[in-house]
Amino acid sequence: MSTSSTSIPPDVAAHVLFHYGREGGYQAGSFTTSLLTAMGTADPSNLDRLALGFPEYVAAVTAIQYDPDGVEQLQDIAAGRCTRCKQDDGPLTPAGRCEACARPMPLGGVV
Ligand SMILES: [Zn+2]
Repeated sequence: MSTSSTSIPPDVAAHVLFHYGREGGYQAGSFTTSLLTAMGTADPSNLDRLALGFPEYVAAVTAIQYDPDGVEQLQDIAAGRCTRCKQDDGPLTPAGRCEACARPMPLGGVV
């Protein structure tokens, strides 16, 4: 399963944070709440299928369930902070980073 290239919008991050009882989120509508419940109980093959229709939500659910830094990342996204330098003076790129952090490094460094 490849979700690392999917960028997570702020409202999706907030919905998933709330669903998992973390700070920094807010409640989604009834459909999305049901969707998140389904994702939380899905096995990997069904999660892959859900990712075809809802890639951002699957990326966020995967992050909060399996990534040790997932909660912090989602909180940064939901709050509009750069996930790298934590500044909130935006604008942020779709990958959740400020323009300075998103700028490609010389010599092909990993950003
Ligand atoms: Zn930054």
